[in-house]
Amino acid sequence: MVEVNDNFRQLPVSYLFSEVGRRVAAFRNDFPDRDVIRMDIGDVTRPLFPSVVTAMHEAVDELSSARSFHGYGPEQGYGFLREAIWRNDYLERGVLGIEPSDIFVSDGAKSDLGNLGDIYSRNCKVAVMNPAYPVYVDDSVIDGRAGSLSGGKWDRIIYLECDPSDSFMPKLPSERADIIFLCFPNNPTGVAITREELKKWVDYARENDSLIIYDSAYEAFVRNPEMVRSIYEIEGASQVAIEVRSFSKTAGFTGLRCGYTVVPKDLKGRYANGEEVSLNTLWNRRQTTKFNGCSYIAQRGAAAIYTPEGMADVRATTYYYLGNAALIKEAFETIGFKSYGGDNSPYVWTSPCDGRDSWEIFNMFLYEIGFSTTPGSGFGSMGDGFVRLTGFNSRENTEKAMSMLMRRFG
Ligand SMILES: *Cc1c(COP(=O)(O)O)cnc(C)c1O
Repeated sequence: MVEVNDNFRQLPVSYLFSEVGRRVAAFRNDFPDRDVIRMDIGDVTRPLFPSVVTAMHEAVDELSSARSFHGYGPEQGYGFLREAIWRNDYLERGVLGIEPSDIFVSDGAKSDLGNLGDIYSRNCKVAVMNPAYPVYVDDSVIDGRAGSLSGGKWDRIIYLECDPSDSFMPKLPSERADIIFLCFPNNPTGVAITREELKKWVDYARENDSLIIYDSAYEAFVRNPEMVRSIYEIEGASQVAIEVRSFSKTAGFTGLRCGYTVVPKDLKGRYANGEEVSLNTLWNRRQTTKFNGCSYIAQRGAAAIYTPEGMADVRATTYYYLGNAALIKEAFETIGFKSYGGDNSPYVWTSPCDGRDSWEIFNMFLYEIGFSTTPGSGFGSMGDGFVRLTGFNSRENTEKAMSMLMRRFG
């Protein structure tokens, strides 16, 4: 037998979503005539935009003829898409200093977040928000950067505690972190970050020679102009930050797959012998070796998001989900729950603040009302006592679930 990567031995089985699924299935089995509305899903429900579908049909036709056929594309993504991203997501929003060659198109944010671990050292100390999207910690475990698990925490991970008194803004670490994962608007808490607050992190990274990996998968949900959409809005960030983005939540690409990562050429790292190297060069080398590009069809679809029709559809779709989130937040505030997010984010993070743990709250909503939520404790110890609800269901289901809530508590 082959010797396997020992880091998997300590990695807990992915418990959160399977446990939610298991409990919902058990409920359906016990109460076959009662409905459960899934308010826990992190997947979108609105279909692809017509402009995206048309562009992909045309791309299929191109591939169907020898004269217009495309084989392997550039590993970094086609120029037409990198240009469109650069122009629309950076240049025209006043974010200067980013170039199309800093942008690497991929099959989505989750892969990039894990794959980036190939370019920084095994010795790097990683800091993550608590609570956080589980991928940052699990990737660190698989790569051997997490140390060992004791009392539910990894001893080489620095946890950036986020508590309700501070609107779930992370605190600067007391020990030096090499890699800092930040995510805004945040999954699971739904909170967005102001320029002033994010500047503290950029300054910290500059002073401590740290690298920020900034997950902005939900940037298209930001409506408040004081909140950050790109970390490069902060001066000096291109020297300390990689930005990871996705078309999944903003244009319905969760099943289609396309995203991108920005690695500015200002970003530098150091080999063990002290020699300096550009992270853009390393990431390019990594991608050209281990990745053969996102499909031509998906990239043509993604480019259509940047047409006037596509951009109008992103606005309409994100407004639709934000509308659901606003309904959820309003309902929970009415029944006296403390609630976060829901205005620049599709997620609402809520708690009765009465000492009950996340699974007790989950069970109450499932059994007494009939909708499922995601227990906050699954995202980290600081999430206990909270549950996450999503705006990604249909308006009809969201209204139904919230009127059931109001009937029971209102
Ligand atoms: C959904 C999600 C992603 C993953 O996006 P894909 O591009 O579909 O892989 C990344 N980060 C966060 C915080 C997410 O919620």
